[in-house]
Amino acid sequence: MTEQFTNICQARAGQPRPASNGMGNEIEQFKVKLRAEKEKLEGELTLLGRRTPNNPNDWEAVPPETEAGGEPDPNVTADMVEGFEEATAVEGELEQRLSEVTAALGRIESGTYGTCKVCQNQIETDRLNANPAAATCIGHKNEPR
Ligand SMILES: [Zn+2]
Repeated sequence: MTEQFTNICQARAGQPRPASNGMGNEIEQFKVKLRAEKEKLEGELTLLGRRTPNNPNDWEAVPPETEAGGEPDPNVTADMVEGFEEATAVEGELEQRLSEVTAALGRIESGTYGTCKVCQNQIETDRLNANPAAATCIGHKNEPR
């Protein structure tokens, strides 16, 4: 009896109190995930490009360096242009994802995280587990952003 009582106390002590909406625990976990993803995305963007000087939230792929002086080798130039176009495409995807992640973190701060921006219903936990940055419920996942 005493032992059982102690176990219950330990189990309770290990769990932070949920927020009033009952999602406090999950939100903390999503926040951790989102922060980690944001850091990763920013790291990848740093490798790929640079922040646009006028707008720190915008990123652009760094254009290929052309060698100063002399005729550039046409093959090398073509490769560089291709690489640049690819980098720009990848960079665009990363930036899009980063803005979703940043927006989701903003919703956590403002207390609106986890509600569908179209119908205002609670977003399914499964969906948030799959994509913590989801801004809509499963029913509205194809809505334009
Ligand atoms: Zn919805």
